Amino acid sequence: MDKLLETDIINHVKSIYDYMQVYIKNYKPEKWYKSQLEFKIKKDKEINGKAWCDNDIDHIEINSGVIDLYYDYFSKILEQDKNTILKILINKELEDDELKEMSYEGIIYKKGIPIIYDSKLVDDSKAKLLEIFVSRFIVTHEIGHILNGHCKLLASKSQKETHFIPMYYTANSGSMSSQEALDRRTMEMDADAFATTQSMLHVLYLYSDFDRQVKIKMMEPKDIFYWWAFAIRSHFLVCQDRFVDNRFHKKMTHLPSNARWIMILTTALDLLPQYNITDQEKKCFREKIIQGATEAEIKFNNIKFTKYDVFNEIAENKDFETYRSEVNYHWERMKSLLLEYSRLPLFNES
Ligand SMILES: [Zn+2]
Repeated sequence: MDKLLETDIINHVKSIYDYMQVYIKNYKPEKWYKSQLEFKIKKDKEINGKAWCDNDIDHIEINSGVIDLYYDYFSKILEQDKNTILKILINKELEDDELKEMSYEGIIYKKGIPIIYDSKLVDDSKAKLLEIFVSRFIVTHEIGHILNGHCKLLASKSQKETHFIPMYYTANSGSMSSQEALDRRTMEMDADAFATTQSMLHVLYLYSDFDRQVKIKMMEPKDIFYWWAFAIRSHFLVCQDRFVDNRFHKKMTHLPSNARWIMILTTALDLLPQYNITDQEKKCFREKIIQGATEAEIKFNNIKFTKYDVFNEIAENKDFETYRSEVNYHWERMKSLLLEYSRLPLFNES
């Protein structure tokens, strides 16, 4: 695994956690206690990770396989785009193998200033940016489980000191009752909503301080919204393809990946009108988000020879509406149980 990327992820996680501590002190001072985050990237190829609380130590563990999987995927996608451009430039039929080591240079103008770029370097920083979006999303989702009280509520219910929340869909939720599974699905939805809210704030921040924070040539500040949606949509496509979790059923702890994505997309688009930005920016970011998500699907289908089409999958599925309403309705009940354990204001907390 790329050492720089690993350090980058660790720093991101630390800053999110520190930021949340300040937030708790300001908004829920009565809920704040001195705590520490132990974040670990475990050398393990399996696609998983977990979160748990152990008294005043909060733990998040993510397997290196998760990070490698997405980084490799994004590199592959960008390489394919580069090969398409090279084929046009060279105007000669070449195999992808022959194109692998080649890159192209170009010039773009930013505010009238010419900037020379090398596609290889641009693609590598883009793959890292996409990977950062995904890993930040995954980790923030886990921080949501910790700070919104999910881990401690589950630990108290199971009467164990600690309770692990697995990062991904697990096939062996069979021993769980339908009621427990509904509780878990509802908390998963809450963690997704938390991660979406926080990552949209991060994207806005990158947009406003683009030149210092992003520094990718050939990218304009508004494109950051496109790439965010591209990254997160890709994450859920990779999950859907891997776990084949299309079916809705009463014992599921996570909603299917496509349903989760639609709910995340809706949350992201609903957040835009609330930001202190111009109407033109709101409209533009909305378009960028939808475009990024759509193109992520097209690219995924091209590379994997699949036919994913989230709107068709969801539109044809009556279960989606039933399960979505069920978790939304159940949130009221979960919220009352979580109040004792949450350190942050909960969604719709009156
Ligand atoms: Zn989760």
